[in-house]
Amino acid sequence: MKLNDKVCVVTGAASGIGKAIAQIYAANGARVVIADLNLDAASKAAEDITASGGTAMAVAMDVTSEEQVNDGVAKVIAAWGQVDVLVSNAGIQIVNPVENYAYADWKKMLAIHLDGAFLTSKAVLPHMYAAGSGSIIFMGSVHSKEASPLKSAYVTAKHGLLGLSRVIAKEGGKKGVRTNVICPGFVRTPLVDKQIPEQAKELNISEDEVVKRVMLGQTVDGEFTTVEDIAEVALFFAAFPTNALTGQSLVASHGWFME
Ligand code: NAD
Repeated sequence: MKLNDKVCVVTGAASGIGKAIAQIYAANGARVVIADLNLDAASKAAEDITASGGTAMAVAMDVTSEEQVNDGVAKVIAAWGQVDVLVSNAGIQIVNPVENYAYADWKKMLAIHLDGAFLTSKAVLPHMYAAGSGSIIFMGSVHSKEASPLKSAYVTAKHGLLGLSRVIAKEGGKKGVRTNVICPGFVRTPLVDKQIPEQAKELNISEDEVVKRVMLGQTVDGEFTTVEDIAEVALFFAAFPTNALTGQSLVASHGWFME
């Protein structure tokens, strides 16, 4: 049990990658908080974990709302008294070329990905500093390091997470808090399924070509990364015992992006 009794808050954990992270954390002994905009799905995810012998609670949270983030973290502290791990994972995707990218969509994207990471970190850091330890993990992307057409806001936000992570790593180091970024390649979740027809339309190619060429064309084996792959990386970062591993980012993308 790598995370025995640790309290781990995972945002966007009602679906996809976040849900798989919550499951692997619970299976490793953590008390898991499923923080999500969608309370019904979050409650279901928490019930599933509880039914399989784990410990989980659901918290309604829009990560772009300072009030909801602070209320959610206050509920966790009231219930379990501590936050040891934050996975800032909630995210969406909106694709469009820059000249057609609605300003409202740009602001929404930056709010969810960047404000969300900032607000959740800000809310948990005082508790981590008081305890003298903590691990923050941001869900970046290959798009933290690489650009693709149609994804201006996403690429900008995901690059920005590297900067925020490095600042918190420097501010938090002497207080026992570390931060790292996971950079997945394409993972078959609702976020990706939604953009396959959208990209096909925008690029005037078939959906099959979007998958084979745009999404997987530069991998070494034509394979999607899985939610389980990313959950393993998230477990590694959360359970790593010292500050030797901080301010880093790790790409898991079937070789799409190599560094
Ligand atoms: P998903 O759509 O399966 O899950 C996203 C979750 O975030 C949903 O449960 C949704 O309700 C929640 N959410 C959305 N807006 C929110 C908000 N304002 N506040 C709280 N919760 C909110 O998507 P996913 O693919 O699992 O994506 C999770 C993260 O992984 C995102 O940050 C995404 O950018 C990143 N990522 C995904 C891929 C991929 O290929 N799927 C690749 C790289 C990075």
